[in-house]
Amino acid sequence: MAALDDPLRRHIGDRSAKALAGALGLRTVGELLRHYPRRYVERGELTDLATLAVGEDVTVLAEVQSVLHRKNQSGRPGFRLEVTIGDGRGTLLLTFFNQAWRQRDLVKGRRALFAGKVSVFNGKRQLAHPDYELLDGLDDPATVAAGFIGALLPVYPVSGKLRSWTVHRCVRILLDTLDDLDDPLPAAVRARHSLPDLRAALIGIHRPATRADAGRAKLRLKWDEAFALQATLAQRRAAAGRLPATPRPGRADGLLAAFDARLPFALTGGQREVGELLAREIAADHPMHRLLQGEVGSGKTVVALRAMLAVVDAGGQAALLAPTEVLATQHLRSLRNLLGPLGCAGELGAADVATRVALITGSLGAAVRRQALADATAGQAGIVVGTHALLEEGVGFADLGLVVIDEQHRFGVEQRDALRAKGDRPPHVLVMTATPIPRTVAMTVYGDLETSTLTELPAGRATTQTYVVAQSRRRWMDGVWRRVRDEVAAGHQAFVVCPRIGDAAADEDATAAGEDADLDPPANGDATDGDPPARPPAAAVLEQLPRLMDGPLTGLRVAGLHGRLSAEDKDAVMRRFAAGEIDVLVATTVIEVGVDVPNATVMVVLDADRFGISQLHQLRGRVGRGSAAAWCLLVADAGETTPGWERLQAVAATTDGFELARADLGQRREGDVLGAAQSGRRSHVRLLSLLRDEDLIRSARDEASAVVAVDPDLTAHPALAAAIANMLDEDRAEYLEKA
Ligand code: ADP
Ligand code: MG
Repeated sequence: MAALDDPLRRHIGDRSAKALAGALGLRTVGELLRHYPRRYVERGELTDLATLAVGEDVTVLAEVQSVLHRKNQSGRPGFRLEVTIGDGRGTLLLTFFNQAWRQRDLVKGRRALFAGKVSVFNGKRQLAHPDYELLDGLDDPATVAAGFIGALLPVYPVSGKLRSWTVHRCVRILLDTLDDLDDPLPAAVRARHSLPDLRAALIGIHRPATRADAGRAKLRLKWDEAFALQATLAQRRAAAGRLPATPRPGRADGLLAAFDARLPFALTGGQREVGELLAREIAADHPMHRLLQGEVGSGKTVVALRAMLAVVDAGGQAALLAPTEVLATQHLRSLRNLLGPLGCAGELGAADVATRVALITGSLGAAVRRQALADATAGQAGIVVGTHALLEEGVGFADLGLVVIDEQHRFGVEQRDALRAKGDRPPHVLVMTATPIPRTVAMTVYGDLETSTLTELPAGRATTQTYVVAQSRRRWMDGVWRRVRDEVAAGHQAFVVCPRIGDAAADEDATAAGEDADLDPPANGDATDGDPPARPPAAAVLEQLPRLMDGPLTGLRVAGLHGRLSAEDKDAVMRRFAAGEIDVLVATTVIEVGVDVPNATVMVVLDADRFGISQLHQLRGRVGRGSAAAWCLLVADAGETTPGWERLQAVAATTDGFELARADLGQRREGDVLGAAQSGRRSHVRLLSLLRDEDLIRSARDEASAVVAVDPDLTAHPALAAAIANMLDEDRAEYLEKA
């Protein structure tokens, strides 16, 4: 009898076991049984051969129509077997060289599964030397008589030389000898949601009698994925909730009170509400773990700063972690601006309650760095702003009370943990996301955090109008540059965004370092929209700069900004732009997140179809931050029916970040969102969809939280505990593979 953690070779023979391990990395019975069919073909129904594309690896169900044995042409020795297979409408040619014996298998009228790569020969599509599995041979009479195999044949994801039917045959052997199974999904949960038990589900997905069978099985197996994930997140939350933290209660006469008194605007209702919630949570003796999401420009920074000041008031320090140097530097500047005399302790004119804000990044000069480190270690700096350089050893704090992580999507759980470990006791943690995230993502990727959302924008914000402009239309492009000139003439400023920097080495570097790259579809776009790969290179900062200065923007003060500049140069450019000394900033996506210059009112994005939806929404958030009306002009020469063009229309149609985040999710693979293996091969999320399974994920979260609340160590649920351990092992293995 087979048990789930038995090695495969004990049950299916060495050769098949080697093939499965080599092609798919499957080693145990359980791993193979969790390798689900991609689809099913109906035994009575032949594959539509007309839909096959050249170059594709296919598995088709078809019938042999004719067999020809011919001598090779042009004097080459030997014979060629030409077999025509059909689906009733179209035909496909199979060719075999010097294999006349195959005529015994492939006789007219025989049905079989054929697998191979579609190529073209003499203008006809063909499979050269395909593998095939005769259908009559697939089922032994006993199985057929027992009625197990119905009309549906599973087609498995395979690679290399491995064939779907080999997987099928191995799976059948295992299903027939499977031991009793411990079900990771508690019986009560199954009963409440009418889900089959694990054995029934595995049989149902690999050997369904009907499509409804397969559907029920798939639903149950999705539950496995969602439930294990949610149980481990519930455990994480529970464990974090048990940790001790230093309470940071508020003070009526401290830094925060002084700050509120000099704030030049009134907080929005949402900012006040979230602020009170954070104040309560950091005053507790267990660490806060909260995710703050909010529309671009909704004012998350002020909310975070107020929490940081409360911590300083209580004698602690706060760290603010940003994804790039540009953003860290900009945070430093805007925190100092907001704080004024409250942020320059030790300097002339500082307030009594004042603290100091320090910056730690990778490119500081030695002396500056030494001073910043000393300020952090001695507790002189109440607030320390930095990039991932903050995570390095050697960066110490006197009493780290709060970690704020801005624009979270670039920091992983491991990095969060590294920062957390810098306090004697775990600090409170506030994570801020750059864009709104769909609920399903909040419940999974950020599932160990509680969530708050800022929904309203500060009053008096003008709207940003977005237009998609075809690059090929001269008159429209003239209009684009006229708009830029008009805005500058009215005293405003502009961004021109390009996908590339402009010298080959720099572009490579930028991508490798993640400086200009993002989780979004790569800037060349062809990963998502299936455009022909040979597109002209996208607009580049170094090429556009002279072109614009000598052409449509002549006479304006134009400067470039990109990841290849030194930290000082970047900083100098940003400073001059913020001070209004530059009219137009031609930049890469280094300006994507957080850059805050309210006087900028127009953004032109060149080759905009090379960016993903979230990225465009982020970019657009750089304008419309003041009270003047703003424009975002998305320039592209994509055809009007391509996915790239549709993406731009979606961005133009709404400024609702949640809606766009959902649209974005629809264009990504689940594995990418969950940070699982790119191949998706061993990822524990195989069936679950973040886009379609919101209700299921929510139910699984409720059920899993209830189980963990009663039994935090899952001692009464050994199968679930084992499933989780297995999942975490896979995670670890993937993490190590990538590192
Ligand atoms: P984001 O949520 O995108 O990080 P920021 O925190 O950068 O937004 O805020 C955007 C801009 O709005 C900043 O210039 C900030 O000073 C300003 N701001 C924040 N809160 C308010 C408010 N309640 N009223 C007016 N302006 C505000
Ligand atoms: Mg921000």
